[in-house]
Amino acid sequence: MKRILVTGGAGFIGSHLCARLVREGNDVICLDNYFTGSKDNIRQLLDCHNFELVRHDVTTPYYAEVDEVYNLACPASPPHYQYNPIKTMKTSIYGAMNMLGLAKRTNAKILQASTSEVYGDPAVHPQVESYWGHVNPIGIRSCYDEGKRSAETLFMDYHRQNGVRIKIIRIFNTYGPNMNPNDGRVVSNFIMQALRGEDLTIYGDGLQTRSFQYVDDLVEGMVRMMATVDDFIGPVNIGNPGEFTMLELAEKIIELTGSNSKIVHCPLPGDDPKQRKPDISLAKEMLNGWEPKVKLEEGLKMTIEYFKDLE
Ligand code: NAD
Ligand code: UDP
Ligand code: UDP
Repeated sequence: MKRILVTGGAGFIGSHLCARLVREGNDVICLDNYFTGSKDNIRQLLDCHNFELVRHDVTTPYYAEVDEVYNLACPASPPHYQYNPIKTMKTSIYGAMNMLGLAKRTNAKILQASTSEVYGDPAVHPQVESYWGHVNPIGIRSCYDEGKRSAETLFMDYHRQNGVRIKIIRIFNTYGPNMNPNDGRVVSNFIMQALRGEDLTIYGDGLQTRSFQYVDDLVEGMVRMMATVDDFIGPVNIGNPGEFTMLELAEKIIELTGSNSKIVHCPLPGDDPKQRKPDISLAKEMLNGWEPKVKLEEGLKMTIEYFKDLE
């Protein structure tokens, strides 16, 4: 049994990770300020003797004695991270620094939930970990992209300078139950719109691509990454290489929900990446043959059922 701290544990991904770690008998502290997360996501864990929920903002120091830290605290959807961009940057940078300080003091292993956004609007396709990216430092997505890039830098420097045991994963678009229906990301928007019979809002021409990973596949990759030897620090891509245009996604969701909704086109937000697809060779090699198991259609069906129950 390990003592594990999960920051952002009441969010979409964090709630699935906490559930898995608690189920495996670990002593889990879930730390969250509930900016985009909610107690509903971890309601079924509240009675578990090995689960503890703490309201805390990672931009301020936090002290606990733990063996492992998963650092997930940060809003992830563009409308949420752009709501207060300065706070987003503080969360990424001060949050990383405080958790790295904690890991240094306790000699805990610490995993950073970084993102495919560090590649920006990528000129290399599919994206490999060695690609340095194509990121606008002064645009409306920069608070998130550059915040996450700075966090990676802090992780690497705490490792080189202080010997902190780090792991960096770059997560590609992930979806599934516990996504906030008002989150503003494409999968939740399209499903909610289809279920309500509203028009599906495609931003731009809909030919931009993303590669969507079901949350269970990600959590499996995260746990395997944490378990790797200390020498392996990443960064490593965790995502599903199946690549789809937003038009294809909209059509698939209309089909699976049996909705009468139509598609409408809305303005494309600034700096929206045109394509995104992970090269997962490194993950396969280093994470014991890890690869995504859940196909888009199967994952969407499970996610649609979750959103139906909310309505
Ligand atoms: P989410 O918004 O559902 O979860 C983020 C959680 O962090 C929320 O519970 C929120 O309340 C909490 N939080 C935000 N600021 C905080 C602060 N200052 N102090 C404490 N808690 C704070 O998003 P998610 O999709 O679950 O993303 C989790 C992590 O994974 C994020 O770091 C995100 O950048 C990363 N990620 C997600 C995706 C994806 O597709 N979902 C892709 C790449 C990276
Ligand atoms: N920190 C924390 N929890 C701990 C240890 C440190 O939140 O258990 C914070 C600490 O307050 C500092 C940051 O982590 O702001 C970085 O710590 P570090 O030891 O690297 O820096 P220093 O304290 O030397 O400035
Ligand atoms: N998108 C869309 N309609 C929506 C929400 C998003 O067409 O209602 C597009 C968005 O412009 C982007 C893609 O879907 O090209 C993925 O957006 P999301 O916010 O989910 O993730 P990210 O852009 O961070 O990859």
